[in-house]
Order: sequence, then structure tokens, then C-alpha cells
Amino acid sequence: MIGAGLAGSLLAILLSQRGWQVTVHERRGDPRIKGYESGRSINLALAERGRHALRQAGAEEAVMARAVMMRGRMVHPIQGQPQLQRYGRDDSEVIWSIHRADLNIALLDLAEQAGARIHFYRRLHTVDFPAGYARFIDDRDDSPHDIRFDTLIGADGAGSALRAAMDRASPLGARTEFLDHSYKELEIPPTQAGGFRIEANALHIWPRGDYMCIALPNAEGTFTVTLFLPNQGPTSFATVASGAQARALFERDFPDALPLIPDLVQDWEAHPPGLLGTLYLDRWHLGGRAVLLGDAAHAMVPFHGQGMNCAFEDCVALAEQLDQAESLAQAYAAFEAQRKPNASAIQAMALENYIEMRDRVDDADFLLQRQLEQA
Ligand code: FAD
Repeated sequence: MIGAGLAGSLLAILLSQRGWQVTVHERRGDPRIKGYESGRSINLALAERGRHALRQAGAEEAVMARAVMMRGRMVHPIQGQPQLQRYGRDDSEVIWSIHRADLNIALLDLAEQAGARIHFYRRLHTVDFPAGYARFIDDRDDSPHDIRFDTLIGADGAGSALRAAMDRASPLGARTEFLDHSYKELEIPPTQAGGFRIEANALHIWPRGDYMCIALPNAEGTFTVTLFLPNQGPTSFATVASGAQARALFERDFPDALPLIPDLVQDWEAHPPGLLGTLYLDRWHLGGRAVLLGDAAHAMVPFHGQGMNCAFEDCVALAEQLDQAESLAQAYAAFEAQRKPNASAIQAMALENYIEMRDRVDDADFLLQRQLEQA
């Protein structure tokens, strides 16, 4: 398997539990030894789809121990008090905020306990499919490691090296549509006593028409704040380039959030904006030689909070198809047929939800309609 991120580590548990011999090759170092380097989205919304998959792997309890419940959206208008819009009638219909590092580390531990072997500092470099050889590079000293493989499973994320290798062997029909909006992450620290500065059990949204800010809680009392802005235009990453310009934007458009983010200027200048896009593929597998799942197969924009949830569902589906099929090629084909329509649907919904989140959640007609739906 390539990639010991979220999908790779969950699939390693599911397959090892079924008796497969799984070896995972991960580009980065072991996060349990050297600290987590993710480069993006520090926390994630975990929904029932993802929890269901974690349950199948016996991983739910370890993960939920550090999750924070989010009962609904706390909408912050530019003037007036924030208002909670519940996701459901009661606490049986909620989503959860989970720290990416906590989640990944819990899944890596369980994968190793189930019998998977995980090699860190192994970046997939090239694949010779007819000969069944793959080359990995250790980025610390550029040393190569060659392996022989029966089959490769690509859980190596949106920039998948396995996908590129498969595409060279036989075109997959890949196309990526980048959004003309990007994002930056900031942090709300805890109070001096270690508590949350704003309502803990909610996904906070500051909708502002063409752009928005959101904040998700972390178990240790912080919030990860994500600002989504257009790349071009009057209020965009082109016009809000410096930390001082970011502070001015927050003074004007997010005045209640500004005092909560003491390191806004430094954090703004420390990281470039993250790109967002949707990846479409015609094919996810190469006979029985290789298959893709998670972001490697169907990366999506994050506005439905379902990329990881969908990747987790892929893991269960692939493990079940491998249980039933007579060959790897048959299992991969059945997996693609089962999951591709679902992934396409959630990709489209994620794009639509950006407009709802940034522009409609504080709309009076929209709110009335939601209240009627819930009544
Ligand atoms: P990743 O998590 O990207 O893991 C890929 C792994 O492969 C990494 O460990 C990487 O180091 C490794 N790798 C990469 N290249 C190689 C190589 N050449 N060789 C070996 N290893 C390699 N989803 C949700 O469900 N809820 C949310 O709230 C949510 N919020 C998000 C917010 C933002 C801003 C973003 C950008 C995404 C968000 N997502 C969310 C989506 C979620 O992050 C992804 O869908 C999820 O991480 C996909 O998991 P994955 O295992 O497929 O890929």
C-alpha cells in the first residue's frame, strides 16, 4: 500500500484483520516519533459515514476519545449575536471534530497491532508494472529502496504518485478542476485556564457572501480557523497579501473573531494559501495490478466535510470486495463500480455547499425554510 495517511492506515487495519499481509510505504516520518507534519487541515469533521467505517475496523473507541461534538452551525453575522442552527433534532444527529494527527496516530497504532508493516520515509518514485517492481526514495538521503509487489493500493492522497505511474502505463482520463478560491489556517488558543474561548460544541461560520471563515474545536481547547477567499477580486488573496492587510480584513468583516486570534499576522505570513480542487478520473484501477482510493481517486473541495468520510467508506468497500471476489482485478472493478458514483455525487454536493455556507446560512428565507423542515 502507498500512503499511511487517513485512508491508508484504516485500510491497513481492515485488510490485516482479514489475514492479508499488508506492507505500507509512507513518504513522511513516523508522526509518533517526530511530530506530525501535515501541511494542511489540522482538524476534520467526522460524520456517521466515517464513524461507521471506524466501527468496522474496531477503531471507533480510540478515535472518539479525542473527538469534540458539534451540534450544529454557529452562524456569526457581521452585526448581532451568533445563532446556533442545529444539524438535527437532538444529540443523536451531530458531527464530530477530530484532530488529524490524533486520528492518524490512533489508526497507525491499530494497523500495527493488527499485523501491518509500515515503512516511513519511503516516497513512491517509479513503478514498473509489467515486471512488478516499485522504487521508493528516502528523502533524508535520497537513497533508493526497490520492492517486488503483487499489487499496489494507492492511498497517497490528491497528488498521488501511484496515480501518475498508472496514468503513464495506461491513461486514466484524469482531470483536476481547481476552485478559484483558496484557504489559510489560523488558530484560536485556549483561555488561560485552558478552556474554549467560544462555544465548544459547534462548527462556527462567519458567512460573508463571496467568502467565509469557519472554526472547528480541538479537544485541548483550541479552534482551527480556516479562511476561504477568492484568488482574485476586490477581497481576495491578491489584495489581502500581507499580515497587516489580513488584520484590516478581520477588523472590517470578522470583528468578533479578530480578538480571538492573537497570532493572526504571523500565521498569515508564515503559510501560503492552500489550493482547492476536484479530481475526476475515468478509471480507478489497472486490472489487478493497482487500484486507487480516497483523495488519490476522487479529491474534492472540503465544503461538505466529507473527503475523509468518503475515503473511509472506500476502505470498507474495498476490503469487502476483496473478501468476495475471485481475483484482484474483479475486486478492483467491483469496488470502482460501487464507489465511483457515490464519490461523484459527494464531489458535486461539496461544490454546491460552498455557496450555501458562505452566502445562505444567514439568509432569512433560508433560515425559515430550515426551521420549517425541522418542525
Ligand atoms: P491523505 O490524508 O492526503 O494521505 C495521503 C498519505 O500519502 C499521506 O500520509 C502522504 O504523506 C502519503 N504520500 C503522498 N505521496 C506519497 C508517495 N509518493 N509515497 C508514499 N506516500 C505518499 N474531510 C472530511 O471528511 N472532513 C473535513 O472536515 C475535511 N476538512 C478538510 C479541510 C481542508 C482544508 C482540506 C484540504 C481537506 C479536508 N477534508 C475533510 C478532506 C480530507 O483531508 C481528505 O479527504 C483526506 O485526508 C483523504 O485521506 P487520504 O488518506 O486519501 O489522503
